[in-house]
Amino acid sequence: MNKLNITTDCQSTDCLKASGFGLLRARESNAKTYARTFDCIIQRGLGTRVWDSDGKEYLDMLACAGALPLGHNHPAILDEVFAFLRSGQIQQGLDIATPAKVAFTEELMESLPVDFAQSVRLHFCGPTGSDAVEAAIKLFKTATGRRAVVAFSGGYHGMTMGALSLMGNLNPKAPVSGLSAETHFFPYPNSKRCPFGVGGKDGERLALQYIDNALSDPESGITKPALILLEAVQGEGGCIPAPDEWLRGLREIATRHDVPLVIDEVQTGFGRTGSMFAFTHAGIRPDAIILSKALGGGYPLALIAYDAKYDKWAPGAHTGTFRGNQIAMVAGAATMRLLRDKNIVGHAQEMGARLQQGLKALAREFHCIGDVRGRGLMVGAEIVSTEGKLDGSLAKAVKVECFQLGMIIETGGRHGAVLRFLPSLLIEPADIDLALRLLGQSITNVRASEQARCRLQHTELDSVFLSTHLQKNDI
Ligand code: PMP
Repeated sequence: MNKLNITTDCQSTDCLKASGFGLLRARESNAKTYARTFDCIIQRGLGTRVWDSDGKEYLDMLACAGALPLGHNHPAILDEVFAFLRSGQIQQGLDIATPAKVAFTEELMESLPVDFAQSVRLHFCGPTGSDAVEAAIKLFKTATGRRAVVAFSGGYHGMTMGALSLMGNLNPKAPVSGLSAETHFFPYPNSKRCPFGVGGKDGERLALQYIDNALSDPESGITKPALILLEAVQGEGGCIPAPDEWLRGLREIATRHDVPLVIDEVQTGFGRTGSMFAFTHAGIRPDAIILSKALGGGYPLALIAYDAKYDKWAPGAHTGTFRGNQIAMVAGAATMRLLRDKNIVGHAQEMGARLQQGLKALAREFHCIGDVRGRGLMVGAEIVSTEGKLDGSLAKAVKVECFQLGMIIETGGRHGAVLRFLPSLLIEPADIDLALRLLGQSITNVRASEQARCRLQHTELDSVFLSTHLQKNDI
């Protein structure tokens, strides 16, 4: 029976015989993403570099979508992990207390802003960012007894059903039924492409006024929400930082309306934006933060950290088997220690500034770079057509060419038109400069092949014209 199924869903018997890379190509789901562009076997990695099975070297400006804050195989992290593996301690622990969990929690408490840490409660979730987002939604619905959730256009919180409901991007959610109906989206401030068409401070003010009005108006159609959830810098949405003043305004509105403010720090947390957490740039105190990616120092781990007053779950109200990944706790604790002791956060801020400066210089040379933005080492370059429209296919061509030239970057944002840079926080100036050179080269190559294609099309058109003309004349 099994054999029969396999033969029926195979286009040819080739995929039955496939092994190695061919097996992956034949068997992996159509939903695969990175593997489409990065079509090779990544054999090994060190710091900001990975090498494929042919020995080709790549500068990795993606760091596993920010999940490797210190790059690949950082020796200090490896030492701690190897020592732990040899120690005889347990590797998985549900939510039971262990030495690794105690040490991790101590480091985390040291890393959180003091006023937030004072009354914080931690809930270790299943290992992904989406798991922690689901937990946050459940916690605040339970704690407030409310049903509605406020989210923002362009937001990204994961792919599970609750998290997907809060996603701005329509592509993954449009074909899925049963998403949470009581999700209300509000415009996220964006001075370059202002949702109100005004930009700047006026756009920010309107975005706040709109939310404030919706929460005050008895005819807004929106019941009082259980939480307001947002990223302080939208990552997948195209690297859009929320202005500090706007975040402070949102904090004030949330407090006034007694709605918990939850910041999704899955991508921004642990130094990525040039401060330990992205919300601290604005000096606000959220009611909860959601953490994953860098939290486990490159291994899967996720948790929510929230104000004790919302700790209204009954025992066992939110569980999950893989909440006790001890290796991730060891690596995460070591990462947090290094971030603090070596001022890596300050370094990330400096490197991010260098990257943005270099991209802005490239934008003066290449008009297809329509905007450069970001915070710390979470940087985006928006790619536009000659008419200034978002150009996802050009961005994709540039990304693919970067890969050919030996650099891994990703695209994101509306129409996939933003080139995204999320390298190791330990990246050195020489690698930033190399990334800029490779990007410039990639755009030049893409432009040259486009021009060659246009020339080819013209030549083909000319020859079609000539032959029809000749035929006509012959007749
Ligand atoms: N929130 C944010 C802000 C994210 O960037 C992501 C992942 N890119 C998630 C949540 C979901 O995390 P995961 O992919 O681990 O489920």
